[in-house]
Amino acid sequence: MAGNPIVGPLRRLATVVTDGPERAVVSTLENLLQRPQDQGLLDDAARLLSQDSKTFMQAVTKHFSVTASGMLVNLTADSFPCGTAKKWQNYVATQTAEPFEIACPKTVADLQAVLAKAAALGCPVRAAGSHHAWSDAALTDGIAIETRGLVEPITPADATLLKDPAGAATLYRVSGGMTIQDLNAALDQRGLALINMGGYDGQTLAGVISTSTHGSGLSLGAFPSFAEALIAIDGNGKMLQIEKTAGITDAAKFAAQGSGVQLIQDDKMFNASAVGIGCLGIIYAVLLRVRAQYYLSETRTLLKWTDLRDQLREGSILRQYRHVEVIVNPHVIDGGNTCLLTLRREVPKPAAPSPPRPFRDVFAEFLAGIPGAGDALAALFQTFPALSPQLVEGALNNLEDANEFVALSYTMLNVGAANGFPAVCSEIAVDLEQHVDAVDAVLAIAAQARAEGAYQSGVVALRYVAPSPGFLTMQPRETCTIELPMLRGVFGSDSLPWRYEKALTERFGGRPHWGQRNFLTGSHAMLETIYGKQNVSDWMDVFRLFNPAGQFYSRFTDRVGLSSHAPGAAPG
Ligand SMILES: Cc1cc2nc3c(=O)[nH]c(=O)nc-3n(C[C@H](O)[C@H](O)[C@H](O)COP(=O)(O)OP(=O)(O)OC[C@H]3O[C@@H](n4cnc5c(N)ncnc54)[C@H](O)[C@@H]3O)c2cc1C
Repeated sequence: MAGNPIVGPLRRLATVVTDGPERAVVSTLENLLQRPQDQGLLDDAARLLSQDSKTFMQAVTKHFSVTASGMLVNLTADSFPCGTAKKWQNYVATQTAEPFEIACPKTVADLQAVLAKAAALGCPVRAAGSHHAWSDAALTDGIAIETRGLVEPITPADATLLKDPAGAATLYRVSGGMTIQDLNAALDQRGLALINMGGYDGQTLAGVISTSTHGSGLSLGAFPSFAEALIAIDGNGKMLQIEKTAGITDAAKFAAQGSGVQLIQDDKMFNASAVGIGCLGIIYAVLLRVRAQYYLSETRTLLKWTDLRDQLREGSILRQYRHVEVIVNPHVIDGGNTCLLTLRREVPKPAAPSPPRPFRDVFAEFLAGIPGAGDALAALFQTFPALSPQLVEGALNNLEDANEFVALSYTMLNVGAANGFPAVCSEIAVDLEQHVDAVDAVLAIAAQARAEGAYQSGVVALRYVAPSPGFLTMQPRETCTIELPMLRGVFGSDSLPWRYEKALTERFGGRPHWGQRNFLTGSHAMLETIYGKQNVSDWMDVFRLFNPAGQFYSRFTDRVGLSSHAPGAAPG
């Protein structure tokens, strides 16, 4: 198999194997390197992996060479290379930029000075959070603003400024640059919790709002649903508090306090800013609706897609549970695509905590205490693509657990270990009624690609989302999001996402996730088709307000059709 510039194939190191259990793994893989299509060897490798995945991965990392992924994880305010002539990259180094400067402001005055400098230089600006977007949405070649240094402790909203002062108990002012992890910890200390979250907590609050990041639950919207006000700084350095027309703040009391912040209560401004994708100023803080701490109970059942699809089409299961998630193996094993159905409901605080589950998420156990195991797993998929169906199947089997597991909401919703994998991920949202047919189409594409030698090195993950605010939200109606994670650099991880996106946008009106890998073509007309002419036009009006000197233009806005330097192209 040809080498790959990102994930190198496995190569046997000149090590001596002394450990008995490791010997079986090493000799199987050595043989597989010689005969990568040998089904008997593939089955042996899959069996060894599912019997004792820790030993398996230890043997791989000890006795085979693996290219390090160079991922940026666990970022802190000091992680960023501030200054000029520094390279900017996303956490998995699949998006890079050469900004004029990476600015790391620590105060509002610093931030305003950065914006003034950009205006004086006539160069674009863009804020970043945790660099976790797989798309180019956070890239700028002007001034890249890192927002972690601007984080302040969370504070309850000022009840004296609200129309409903009692609402302040669950309304918190949270810095845009605060990570979901730090936010969860701060809320937990106060007996509070997020209403819902995605499967991960490394992103920042402004990052997840800007791309309409979501979790699962048909009664629960994406992150912008929980934002009551966005406190943003425009390109001129002016601070604005943007709310719905019938927003939470008492405008007269707000004006009387003389804070210098301009209150804007306007649905059009709010719906544009709710999913601003980094184009509508710098989100400095958010007035976020939270709730009292709560517990969830979870079961995980394995079944075949053919046995689940009619239930999903009929839909009542999606309304019976607070959260429903489905993870599908895109590869057929034993005559069908195995699915893991996860059901969660809210329960009272348990008398005693559930014992920890051995496997909280796909492949998580591989990572525990084995440095470099994420890269090793990618190299396994890369070197032995024909092992992919069994690798994915083994992971799903490990996750099954029909016993009820109870935990605090945010600890259960966070699948955690995903940040240890050099993954790339795309996701397409489709209307709920269409989702079963859309999944069938995805599985057909995966089968076709597999026949051509491109194996999907991951699962197909389905999550359900309530209608969410934002002209450019991927969840304007009841939605199923179809997530397609793959390991970075593994053959197929470039071509398959495009094939999926093309099929789902053309045939099912699919809406690609702004913060995940997407191929939107730069056609403004395509955005109008996906999001509706009026919505795009309203978003563009607000974009023009925030962007009078082109401060928020970028490669991304050109690529997706929100701006263009092409002669004669629509709008700018
Ligand atoms: C491991 C992992 C797990 C994920 N899980 C989920 C999931 O469960 N559900 C889901 O929907 N998505 C998920 N995503 C996608 C992710 O939530 C989005 O890409 C999110 O936008 C990343 O947030 P961030 O803080 O890293 O922001 P960045 O990637 O740094 O930026 C994302 C966008 O937000 C803008 N932005 C950031 N900060 C500001 C600010 N202060 N003001 C204005 N604009 C700003 C940027 O300009 C950019 O357009 C996941 C991604 C990863 C890597």
